[in-house]
Amino acid sequence: MAVPKRRCTSTRRDKRRSHDAIRAFAPSVCSQCKSAKMAHRVCPSCGSYGGEVVIQMED
Ligand SMILES: [Zn+2]
Repeated sequence: MAVPKRRCTSTRRDKRRSHDAIRAFAPSVCSQCKSAKMAHRVCPSCGSYGGEVVIQMED
């Protein structure tokens, strides 16, 4: 099995982990119903995406 030649320093480890933080959810506004929705996803309240209704909602 391949084994690392030398341990990585705490600086290298921390630099690698500098991209690991989870960022807060930044909502975008639906163009149809103006409610907050996730970007690049179908609107959960009106079922539209890209200006047209793709899922017919119950009410
Ligand atoms: Zn909507």
